[in-house]
Amino acid sequence: MPQEKTEAVVLRGVDFSETSRVVTFLSPGRGRMACLARGARRKNSPLAAALDTFNRVELVYYWKDGRGVQNLGEVSVLDRFAGVKSDLARGAYGAFPLELTLRVAHENEPSAPLYTALVRGLAGLAAWPGEPRHHACWQVLRLLAAAGFAPELDRCGGCGGALTGRVGFSAADGARCGGCRGDFPLSVEALSAMRALLGAAVACPEAGSAASVEVFRALRRYAAYQLETDFRSLRVLDEVVGTTPGN
Ligand SMILES: [Zn+2]
Repeated sequence: MPQEKTEAVVLRGVDFSETSRVVTFLSPGRGRMACLARGARRKNSPLAAALDTFNRVELVYYWKDGRGVQNLGEVSVLDRFAGVKSDLARGAYGAFPLELTLRVAHENEPSAPLYTALVRGLAGLAAWPGEPRHHACWQVLRLLAAAGFAPELDRCGGCGGALTGRVGFSAADGARCGGCRGDFPLSVEALSAMRALLGAAVACPEAGSAASVEVFRALRRYAAYQLETDFRSLRVLDEVVGTTPGN
């Protein structure tokens, strides 16, 4: 069983036995990867803190082809993104892109663009001085693009024509012209903000934050439809931040 070493982000941890947890990571080389962390539930285990969700870690594991859960060796923390965890709203908004990553990532598939989008998003959110909802919009768009799910924003997603007339947004493909109609209307400001966010590869631009309520509402519906998932993180977000599923 070859020993491998990689950088990874902790996406989720689930208790497995009295003493162990199954932790799911995103790594650049192996994509989504679940590992059994023996002893992670023992009292004072250093593994428990190292395997906190959001953490960027360096891990050693023992790879075996065809096995759904790999065996974890050592873990060391590279970044805890304390700025995300110490703030309720940042943590609640940051959980959505994290869950989105879990849904779009594939097992045992090189995922460097997705990994880069995830890490840049977490680092950016940890230091983001503004509204975390706007930052979450940026990260969600970048993750969707890295996974091949970017919404159409330059042409009508329905007919491929120019975005003329009363522009709308459809969870099936993105912006829609007045003739094709979307699921709901999309303002000029929101469309322009989404284009700016999608086009910003390295860091979240401040421009467009005034439209963040509308953009976030469009993106959560889009992601739910595209991935056929009722995101648990969004239900928590609605409770924590007081948003409603319509917002
Ligand atoms: Zn159209």
